[in-house]
Amino acid sequence: MAGTDKNVCPTYLCENVQLMLNTRELSTFRKQLLTWFRQFQRDLPWRGTMDPYRIWLSEIMLQQTRVAAVIPYYEKFLERFQNVQSLAAAPQEDVLRFWSGLGYYSRARNLQKAAQQIVAKHDGKFPARPEDVLDLPGIGNYTAAAILSIAFGEKHAVLDGNVARVLARLGAIRGDLREPRHWQQLQKTADGLLDGNSPGDWNQAMMELGATVCTPKSPQCLLCPVAQFCEGRKLGIAEDLPEKRKKRTIIQVTLATAVFADKNGRTLLLSPPTDKNEESLADFVPIIVSRLWHFPTISVNGDPAAKLRAFLKRFLPRERIAKWKFAPAAKVRHAVTYRDIAIFPFRINLNKLPRIPGAKIVPLHEISALPVSNLTRKVALAAEAAAIPLSKKR
Ligand code: SF4
Repeated sequence: MAGTDKNVCPTYLCENVQLMLNTRELSTFRKQLLTWFRQFQRDLPWRGTMDPYRIWLSEIMLQQTRVAAVIPYYEKFLERFQNVQSLAAAPQEDVLRFWSGLGYYSRARNLQKAAQQIVAKHDGKFPARPEDVLDLPGIGNYTAAAILSIAFGEKHAVLDGNVARVLARLGAIRGDLREPRHWQQLQKTADGLLDGNSPGDWNQAMMELGATVCTPKSPQCLLCPVAQFCEGRKLGIAEDLPEKRKKRTIIQVTLATAVFADKNGRTLLLSPPTDKNEESLADFVPIIVSRLWHFPTISVNGDPAAKLRAFLKRFLPRERIAKWKFAPAAKVRHAVTYRDIAIFPFRINLNKLPRIPGAKIVPLHEISALPVSNLTRKVALAAEAAAIPLSKKR
């Protein structure tokens, strides 16, 4: 859509109004958005750098995660892994530890695999060719476009859910934006709007507009630098766009977890699961604990304490489990993608912790010394609270 007089609406999208700009309007649109961005952009630690490693790291961390949550992780991660080489050479457990709490751990695993690929295939230098960037684990079209445009000044327009929302409102596009025909059209629109003289700033400006002004709820159209071009606003439907997608059904999962504690306040964590089977099952524990260090955990229906006791009898046949007391801690709730998880933690105080191959013994209040998921952290907190006598809880 770049550059020429009024476009003709493609037949398959004629149920929608489109963002159609002539050459002069397009030039004004670009100028206004870039001027706004340069004046009002947030001061973020990954702004102002052209180092592809730093840009790449920020883009991966920002996937599915809020900016405020990412900032401390980004800074600590960079302190420890200053460049591609140090990330590639680090033990994976170290990388996961610095990611611990940020969630979606496959991002960290892929990040390191990609760093190792860059060292092996590109002499440690971040590649600048699109096909090489897209060949790296964990990098799709959006991330590749962000890195190539910001670090190398290449003309690639970014399109993610955030930018798609802005474009849908600007063009008053209805329907499910993730449908391939809509997504392709949105990519064409994003490509057409891209300012070829400043692709990096342009992409960041589009993202910034979506993050701060054209937000999912209550877009602030009065503050919008491109409001005069917005079809959604003109039609009074901006807030209703994009139209809601059908949500995946939420599945309830119930777990029971054993938190052992000896008299020195130490507990026992099982090693990261390596079992790759049955990943599609909603209650598959290795996925739920993000394949990180975790408490002995099972999926249950029925009485959680009885099921956990039966499981531990099978798991630890030499222990006198019938004599163990299972003190229930407060129920923990956790949500991961389409799973709504209820966890029943039981604190089991023992003089001596059982011996389990591969398990590690750590102080219960310091389990984060190992890479653990947020779910495991919540369980540890509940189990710690369960040790406090009732009189002190008040
Ligand atoms: S005018 Fe409103 S709806 Fe349109 S792009 Fe700007 S903030 Fe979004």
